[in-house]
Amino acid sequence: MLPSRMMDFPLTITHLLERAREIHPKSEIVSRMPDKTLRRHTYADLERRAAKLANALTKLGVQRGDRVATLAWNHHRHLEAYFGIPAMGAVVHTLNLRLHPNELAYIANHGEDKVVIVDRSLLPLFAKFRDRISTLRHVIIIADDGPTPAGELDYEALLADARDEYEYPALAETEASMLCYTSGTTGNPKGVLYSHRSIILHALVGTMRDALSVGNDDIIMPVVPMFHASAWGLPYMAVTTGAKLVFPGSHLDPVSLLDLMAQERVTIAGGVPTIWIGILNELDKAPKRWDLSTVRTMVIGGAAAPPSMIDGFSKRHNLDVIHAWGMTEMNPLGTVARVRHHLAGKSEEERLAIRASQGYPVPFVEQRHVGADGKTLPWDGETMGELEVRGPWVAVSYFGDEGADRFTKDGWFKTGDVVTIDADGYMRITDRSKDVIKSGGEWISSVDLENALMSHPSVLEAAVFAGRDPKWDERPVAAIVLKEGESVTDGDLAAHLGTRFAKFWLPDAYVYMAQIPRTSTGKFLKSKLREEHGDVLVNGTKASSSKG
Ligand code: AMP
Repeated sequence: MLPSRMMDFPLTITHLLERAREIHPKSEIVSRMPDKTLRRHTYADLERRAAKLANALTKLGVQRGDRVATLAWNHHRHLEAYFGIPAMGAVVHTLNLRLHPNELAYIANHGEDKVVIVDRSLLPLFAKFRDRISTLRHVIIIADDGPTPAGELDYEALLADARDEYEYPALAETEASMLCYTSGTTGNPKGVLYSHRSIILHALVGTMRDALSVGNDDIIMPVVPMFHASAWGLPYMAVTTGAKLVFPGSHLDPVSLLDLMAQERVTIAGGVPTIWIGILNELDKAPKRWDLSTVRTMVIGGAAAPPSMIDGFSKRHNLDVIHAWGMTEMNPLGTVARVRHHLAGKSEEERLAIRASQGYPVPFVEQRHVGADGKTLPWDGETMGELEVRGPWVAVSYFGDEGADRFTKDGWFKTGDVVTIDADGYMRITDRSKDVIKSGGEWISSVDLENALMSHPSVLEAAVFAGRDPKWDERPVAAIVLKEGESVTDGDLAAHLGTRFAKFWLPDAYVYMAQIPRTSTGKFLKSKLREEHGDVLVNGTKASSSKG
């Protein structure tokens, strides 16, 4: 082996922060405050305030490797934590504000959080688990314009007292930088501990034109929360390139988001399908109300994007949706569904099918799928198996070592997603393994049924789950949310599906509801549907009535 003569230069978040000051000091950060006013900062402010935060935390006794948690919406102070905490050698631990206090108590203790930085508006939630965090030393309140409760540390007061220069330590790129817990619906959440290196490599690849395509002239709005898998790395991609950042704060209803997108001339926005379903519905009601001509890409991930939604955005509103797949365990980006040049000549329908797939892996993510016997399966677009991945930003184990069975002996991570992979490497999720519907021994894809149901003009949202059935073990049941003022019968929906699926795939029951229960990261919560409506089938036939 001949050793190279190239520098061993570590890939750290500190570099991005210094670069923000030296190269992109004028790039802008816009935050929507609780009262909906907009606050503007620059990357020069980001670097200065991150250094102040690092000084303040050092004074409070935070040391290298310590966990400093955030319980906060998307805003500029959360961004300061994203940079200042890792750059000082500590670990930023993003707490998911939609979790139950018991889960938060578990996670904060498991992560051994020493300090928690919390939005004032979230204090009622924090109060429900604060006393249960045995490692907690300090609480810092982001008070915005309101008063900080007596006896508490105030974020702005701490920063005002702190020096705006920090002697950043020389870090190894393999050191921990951020801790995120999975939002699993079964078992305890598991900690995923990102490194500086994984965040940087993920950001570099994520900015690629073939990935999320982020450049200096972009205006990026992460709707995906900063407590969900580093907001998909979008804040790090923005600072890498010097793009403008727009943070929506806590105002996540479709109209507020559309107002902000139009006003700040957003070019890239990212969020889960439930957010975009709401936005599409709003745009359909008032197509001319917002000028979205600057929007170049809307990244949809975290759950399957229905083809009808992708198509609706393009055809009715001339907006381009990019479907991507990822997981907390992989920082999170894995695949992006772009139509490659050799497929550009395919029919419109075929191209839509490609765009609605989960996509092909970005560089350095490797994929394979395996059968129940653990053998790898052919990339034929048909054979279903569990997806496994590996790469430089895929977890090698969980923090605390739970869930060791998710990591194979030969170095792959088992995703729990049931997929097909075609000859071009495009991966399609047919189900989450725990959501798979097994009827009389045959697999039925809930995702395919949902996509088809959501293409019905009256249907706003659909989630298909396994109903218990004495004869077939499980049968599909569809939870349906109708668009305002619409009405359908079970027969209408069955007829709509009947042209596309084998008869045994068709749901045995339709349950109509005002909203589908969601997980803490905005995905359909099928375990709850199963719990509440899993017994809707009586003697193998539906017992629900249609709603007209
Ligand atoms: P999380 O760790 O919360 O990001 O959840 C990861 C899981 O979300 C994956 O294993 C998938 O089951 C699901 N998921 C993420 N992106 C997509 C997508 N584009 N289509 C379908 N499922 C997705």
